[in-house]
Amino acid sequence: MRILLVEDDTLLRTQLRTALQDAGYTVDEADNGRDAQFLGETEAVDAVVLDLGLPVVDGLTVLKRWRAAGRNMPVLILTARDNWHEKVAGIDAGADDYLTKPFHLEELLARLRALIRRASGQASAVLQCGDWSLDTRSGRVACAGQPVALTAHEYKVLDYLMHRPGVLVSRSELTEHIYAQDFDRDSNTIEVFVGRLRKKLASSSSASARIETVRGMGYRLVPP
Ligand code: CA
Repeated sequence: MRILLVEDDTLLRTQLRTALQDAGYTVDEADNGRDAQFLGETEAVDAVVLDLGLPVVDGLTVLKRWRAAGRNMPVLILTARDNWHEKVAGIDAGADDYLTKPFHLEELLARLRALIRRASGQASAVLQCGDWSLDTRSGRVACAGQPVALTAHEYKVLDYLMHRPGVLVSRSELTEHIYAQDFDRDSNTIEVFVGRLRKKLASSSSASARIETVRGMGYRLVPP
């Protein structure tokens, strides 16, 4: 999953980036409203963390422009303390949730997980497909109850698919959602990650999920 992080405070942005990456997200960053607007309009982000007090163009304006342009990704706004009208204006402008500074990183991560879950129609923090499970809180993956160790990229591919069971996902869509904007993307690597996931998550059980290749189209996570 790919997060757009918009925050002009360098220290806070660095802390948030590290926490998001540690939680298994791909992170794109902006430190002003103009760059943020551009990234949010052109990149396939799964959620946005948007500070409202930004240089060049303020966060509220950026949010309104995204929504006016039909960009409907979940947006979590960061607001100043004791500024309740900012929260109201943010939610009215199309924010899905807010956090008041200062906040705990754990709360930010929990709210983001919930936003991403809701956007893909998932209700539980533990995604289940057949005998495969992925705990979005801990990043733990298991097959038939046995823990499975995945690399960061394998996890990102599985996480994206587990949020969309039964849905055909193209290779380019997967590529867009697991690599940041400045990364040298190669959609052939997706095939490698999927191949490794199939091996690591193989089980003889009839309850096993599988990742189906739809020739020329992409992949689909198939429940048993
Ligand atoms: Ca700020």
